[in-house]
This record gives sequence, C-alpha cells and structure tokens, in this order.
Amino acid sequence: MPELAVENITKSFHGTTVLEDIDFTVADGEFFTLLGPSGCGKSTTLSCVAGLEHPDSGTIRVGDEVFFDGLPRTAVPPEGRNLGLVFQSYALWPHMTIADNLALPLKLRKVAKAEQRRLIDDALTKVDMAHLRDRYPHQLSGGQQQRVALARGIVYSPGVLLLDEPLSNLDAKMRGQARMWLKDLQREVGITTVYVTHDQIEAMSLSDRIAVFMHGRLQQVGTPVEVYETPATPEVAGFIGRCN
Ligand code: ADP
Ligand code: MG
Repeated sequence: MPELAVENITKSFHGTTVLEDIDFTVADGEFFTLLGPSGCGKSTTLSCVAGLEHPDSGTIRVGDEVFFDGLPRTAVPPEGRNLGLVFQSYALWPHMTIADNLALPLKLRKVAKAEQRRLIDDALTKVDMAHLRDRYPHQLSGGQQQRVALARGIVYSPGVLLLDEPLSNLDAKMRGQARMWLKDLQREVGITTVYVTHDQIEAMSLSDRIAVFMHGRLQQVGTPVEVYETPATPEVAGFIGRCN
C-alpha cells in the first residue's frame, strides 16, 4: 500500500474552526496515532479520512488515489475508499451471530460464499475468536466484542485501518490485555493503521509515530521517544506530563 497523505486540511463547524491546517503522512504498514485531549479534533480528522465528513479545504489521498481534493462534489464516497473502520462503540448487529456480523461487509462487496467463509475464519482466527463464531454479541464479554469488531474491520483486507478509541469502553484490566493483543495483531497483520486515543500509555506502547493534537492543531509528530523526551511545545509537555 502507498502512504496515506492528509494535506493541509481545515474544518469548521458553525463558524468554529476545529481543524487548522492538519498535515501528516502515514507510511505503509505504520501504526500512526492521533493523540490529544477530548475535543481537540481527532475524531473529526478520522471522519475526514473515512469520508464521513469533508474538510473545508485540503486534500486526502492514498498514493496516487485522491479521496478528496477540496471539493465535496468530486470526493470518493466512504464505501469507495477501501478502509476498515472501528469506532468507540463497536456496534455489532445484536440479531446476528459473530460470523454473520463479519459476513455483512463481505456481502456488500459481493464476495462469493466460499470465499466469505475463508475470510471470516481467517479474521476470527487472527483475534483468537474463531471458536465463538456462532454466538451472538450479547453472549460475549466487552473485550471479546471488541475483538470481533476489529476482526470485522480487517475481514476484507482494507488498505488502511482506522481505529477511534477502540478500547475506551473496556475496564482498566481489559484495556491492558487488549493493548497487548492489539500489538500482536499489528505485528501479524502489519496493516497501515491510524489510531485515535486520548490515552498516552496506549499511544506510547502501540505506535510507530504519534501526532499530538491540541485545539485543532498538530503540535508535534514523532516517535514515542521523541514526543516523550523532547516535547515540541509547552502544551505537549503539559499533556504528556499529566497522568490520564
Ligand atoms: P476528539 O475526537 O478529539 O475528542 P472531535 O473531533 O470529536 O474531538 O471534536 C472536535 C470539536 O469539533 C469539538 O469541539 C466538537 O464538539 C466539535 N464537533 C465535532 N463534530 C461536530 C459536528 N458534527 N457538529 C458540530 N461540532 C462538532
Ligand atoms: Mg473522538
């Protein structure tokens, strides 16, 4: 996969600027985290990449494929972007089994039945959930539901995986475990990932690089060590220093 490039995007809601000239690139296979306090614009940035929102200006592309070039009229729709999405509320379909939850995105993409079965087994095995394929979501723990949501995000082998605070509904103990298997999954699957969190421990332990957001602006992009040891602005130093 070529790199994901978010170039100078700006966005306001009702006259209030929430993203100001956001600019970053994510390399093939990289785990890239948007880190910052609540309300700083992380989810809005991810929604723009996914095509659920459009920036007011700027461009978004993966390699030569332009998703957004400044005009909503010519934007590639979300379903044309080949991205995997996992949001905070994992929203599995309650009336469908785990396997059927994973089948849905494949059906939408008109994948043949036998191939569906293979891809579903593959994705559930990666998150260690294949043995629960015939259960319903309410029969699983929060952590297990989260794994299924991730499996659904990767089942059609998207070019880029977008994860918005995927662990925030879990309690502290499960969050720690989930962090570990997320790291294992990343190592195994190696998919380009944009990860959103307000939790600096998650960001530090999972990321190849971190982009620190404050008030709709990118303060710093660097490796966890760079961000931790040489914060670029007093705001970053204040945020990283704070235990949250
Ligand atoms: P984060 O994910 O970092 O917590 P968001 O991107 O969700 O932040 O929000 C950034 C700012 O934009 C917040 O002030 C939020 O209230 C505002 N915002 C987000 N989405 C909308 C929307 N659809 N309409 C109006 N304001 C919004
Ligand atoms: Mg958010």
